[in-house]
Amino acid sequence: MECKRVLGIEGTAWSLSAAIAGWDRVYVEASNPYVPEKGGIHPMAAAQHHANHIGDVIKEVLSSGIDFDGVAFSQGPGLGPCLRTVATAARALALAYDVPLIGVNHCVAHIEVGRWQTGCYDPVVLYVSGANSQVLAYRAGRYRIFGETLDIGIGNALDKFGRYLGLQHPGGPKIEALAKEGKQYIELPYVVKGMDLSFSGMMSAAKDAAQRYSKEDVCFSLQENSFAMLVEVTERALAHTGKNEVLIGGGVGANMRLQKMLEDMCNDRGARFYAPPRRYFGDNGSMIAYTGLLQLKYDMTLEVEDSAVNPCYRPDEVDIPWL
Ligand code: AMP
Ligand code: MG
Repeated sequence: MECKRVLGIEGTAWSLSAAIAGWDRVYVEASNPYVPEKGGIHPMAAAQHHANHIGDVIKEVLSSGIDFDGVAFSQGPGLGPCLRTVATAARALALAYDVPLIGVNHCVAHIEVGRWQTGCYDPVVLYVSGANSQVLAYRAGRYRIFGETLDIGIGNALDKFGRYLGLQHPGGPKIEALAKEGKQYIELPYVVKGMDLSFSGMMSAAKDAAQRYSKEDVCFSLQENSFAMLVEVTERALAHTGKNEVLIGGGVGANMRLQKMLEDMCNDRGARFYAPPRRYFGDNGSMIAYTGLLQLKYDMTLEVEDSAVNPCYRPDEVDIPWL
């Protein structure tokens, strides 16, 4: 079908964000992020925040007066209560405007917004966010997961260590700042098993090290160690697939040290490194709207009765007919 624009809503965890995107631009985006007062993300509190503010966020997008041909929402993976809140709003909007409803896989959306914004075509993707850490690449109609964390995501590991240091959530950016002042490398568990990763032991060891070393040194070591693990798996995926592009996405992708390490690896291998503009790293409505537009073009829409959310939705369950 002819489709020009889609309204997309993101709400898998902390980010509540809606946008209207077309093929060549984001027309409007409105957001109201959930920020925990203390501790990490509480699923019920985040969902309550989304329920309280989704009306205003959508109203702000609609007040642009820009029309749309479909409504997309983040169907998963994510926190069940948050996903259900956003899906309910998306269903109501699709019915009220009599347009198709589109369920978007959040991980696929991180990849597609990166391809769209950087112009890379068929990359090995390092997707690093709060809950997820995966290395993916396209093969035979889908984004295949070549390697991933076996326990917590790298973002959660950083955030947990940040809370241990008394930093407010999210800890990732604050750890990046502290790491710049670090002077010595402290050995931490380096856990790569085949193509998979594990971060929880490293995080416990970092807490232990923080009793004996400065927080700057531990933050520096935590970054060097975990990012080397991520770069190693990404490099191996490049070698196995024979591809020559690397794309980074997800909130932790905003980290400049991680970007530098990936870029150095790519330069050594003759591959090209791609990073989207900063605003597209963390969860955002634009990525859902744009991926919804791709899906609408290929009639990948949902009936309301088939639009249940899926907290464990994996990216390799989604057909990718546009690549
Ligand atoms: P996402 O779930 O994709 O929105 O990403 C959120 C995660 O990104 C949180 O765990 C943040 O701590 C992390 N994050 C954001 N900025 C940075 C940064 N500059 N360095 C490391 N982690 C970051
Ligand atoms: Mg994300």
